[in-house]
Amino acid sequence: MQPSYLELYNSGRLEKCAEALYERLADCTLCPHQCRTDRINGRQGKCRSGVAPVISSFSAHFGEEAPLVGRHGSGTIFFTNCNLACIFCQNYDISHLGRGEEISFEELAEAMIQLQKRGCHNINFVTPTHMNYAIVKALLVAVPGGLRLPLVYNSGGYDAVDILSILEGVYDIYMPDFKYMNSETARDLSGAPDYPERAMAAITEMHRQVGDLATDRNGVALRGLLVRHLVLPSNIAATDRVINFIANLSRDTYINIMDQYRPEYRANECFNLKRGITLQEYDDAVNHALRCGLTRIDGIRRQTNWK
Ligand code: SF4
Repeated sequence: MQPSYLELYNSGRLEKCAEALYERLADCTLCPHQCRTDRINGRQGKCRSGVAPVISSFSAHFGEEAPLVGRHGSGTIFFTNCNLACIFCQNYDISHLGRGEEISFEELAEAMIQLQKRGCHNINFVTPTHMNYAIVKALLVAVPGGLRLPLVYNSGGYDAVDILSILEGVYDIYMPDFKYMNSETARDLSGAPDYPERAMAAITEMHRQVGDLATDRNGVALRGLLVRHLVLPSNIAATDRVINFIANLSRDTYINIMDQYRPEYRANECFNLKRGITLQEYDDAVNHALRCGLTRIDGIRRQTNWK
């Protein structure tokens, strides 16, 4: 199966996509924050980013979801900075403190090619929302350089539908978080009170573009949607409502219900975030997903007391 960006490249539409994204950078509306700052001329918005890509690392990663990892790993490229300001971020040195190195579009393309040479099954862009222009510019170099792996859009879920529309055909695999279905929590923990409605709209658009997850005969992802949800203490993420939305989208949505929350960064500023989750809280989340009829729940292998 050929990645969908090949058709975009061959038809000249990938170049047009880059142009459309560049126009947005001058008055940045690349994400729902709509900072309207001129990133082309050195101004920065909430993501504290310019035009050039800044990355903290790239490598074959074996800790991602099984359909992305396969046998040879997911080719992850971690972008520095983020359009969300989550106070419990587990990668806060990269996302908030700016650890990383600025590289050229050509070097970003070369990183993709290197990951393909290492045998990775995909190129997995971690925190891509504020870097979509750089990704498409690098793709224009990587495709004639031989890149043929599917691209994974691994975002926090705070994405703008109109930008996703411009990007249609660039990414074969979308893997957004759906963090919370509660506006106050989204405001207090991530600085984005409209997160729930934005994430619902974005994930609906992602699903429209790529559908449910499709894999090859070895279970390796080819195309489709995966959703991540991190269970938080005392159900402050409104996990049950997040799951209701996912189940309504499609009961065959691949969902990773994650149990690894631990207090990091500024989590101690929020009373409810000062502890990890209990086994009961995690069981409640998984049991709710099962009751909703979801059929592809990652993480369900790890424990046994689900009904
Ligand atoms: S991508 Fe960055 S500058 Fe642009 S709207 Fe989002 S947070 Fe603001």
